[in-house]
Amino acid sequence: MTAKIIDGKSFAEGLRGRIAEHVGRLKQDHGITPGLAVVIVGHDPASQVYVTNKAKQTAEVGMASLKHELPEDTSQEALLALVQALNNDPAVHGILVQMPLPAQIDPVRVIETIAPEKDVDCFTPANVGKVQIGLPGPVSCTPLGCLMLLRDQLGSLAGLNAVIVGRSNLVGKPMAQLLLRENCTVTVAHSKTQNLADVVRQADIVIAAVGRPQMIKGEWIKSGATVIDVGINRIDAPERGDGKTRLVGDVAYAEASKIAGAITPVPGGVGPMTIACLLANTVTTACLINGLTPPSDLTA
Ligand code: NDP
Repeated sequence: MTAKIIDGKSFAEGLRGRIAEHVGRLKQDHGITPGLAVVIVGHDPASQVYVTNKAKQTAEVGMASLKHELPEDTSQEALLALVQALNNDPAVHGILVQMPLPAQIDPVRVIETIAPEKDVDCFTPANVGKVQIGLPGPVSCTPLGCLMLLRDQLGSLAGLNAVIVGRSNLVGKPMAQLLLRENCTVTVAHSKTQNLADVVRQADIVIAAVGRPQMIKGEWIKSGATVIDVGINRIDAPERGDGKTRLVGDVAYAEASKIAGAITPVPGGVGPMTIACLLANTVTTACLINGLTPPSDLTA
């Protein structure tokens, strides 16, 4: 079997198209321009790239993109004051503080200061709880993107065995909540899980969110399973002969794609979905803040 390649890049493009239509309707029918404020502290090169991409895509779908760049030595008080000001700014419907933050700033204090109704990353305890009990609101971006790809691929997920490898607050745990809501039978594996290969072999759906290059082997995959590879790992690539590195996922792609029914590539799978879902969440929060029902095709 050769797996179908799940093209996250093209799905994300379609999603951004739907977002742009919803943004257009919000502007025209309600006079609302969704605004996403992105705050970056310091000069971490990877964070700079993410923030630039987010700002570009925000503007492309017709939203207001409000970028705040603060110096590396910004105090916690100054950052919290900015977050409070954004909480109170009616032009802002989503607030994203780019992680990681410099050592003098406690990320938990920052997250707890973001108003839950503007928490488009779905990091605040209030929004994590809402996802758990199924109330409307923003949904963690990467898991939301994975879920959209799975639904597009499989339709109903009810009754399927889903194995998530990784239990981070960012990916693994919210992914488990979303798949439970879809009536999957969910197993969450982690670094203390025994016989991981056997656990993964039970899965109709594998979500790999570990951060270890190509750890999940082809022979661990059940024939025909759907494999969603969240991992982004940079490795040496001597075969290129140019001294450059390359990106790989947490799944041994070449092996797994001979056995799986469908698989996301890295790059071009889950990655593009994450930013698109951030924009989807900003439409959701803009609607909820203004007492409107969020579009059902942009949320979980
Ligand atoms: P974390 O480091 O926060 O979590 C990793 C998880 O993997 C932990 O739960 C850990 O278990 C588990 N783990 C580590 N080693 C093993 C092992 N040998 N066997 C089984 N489980 C193991 O990572 P994140 O969730 O933040 O990210 C995971 C990956 O996804 C990374 O590559 C990251 O770059 C990528 N990512 C990609 C995104 C995208 O947009 N595509 C967005 C976010 C992340 P334990 O809890 O026991 O320590």
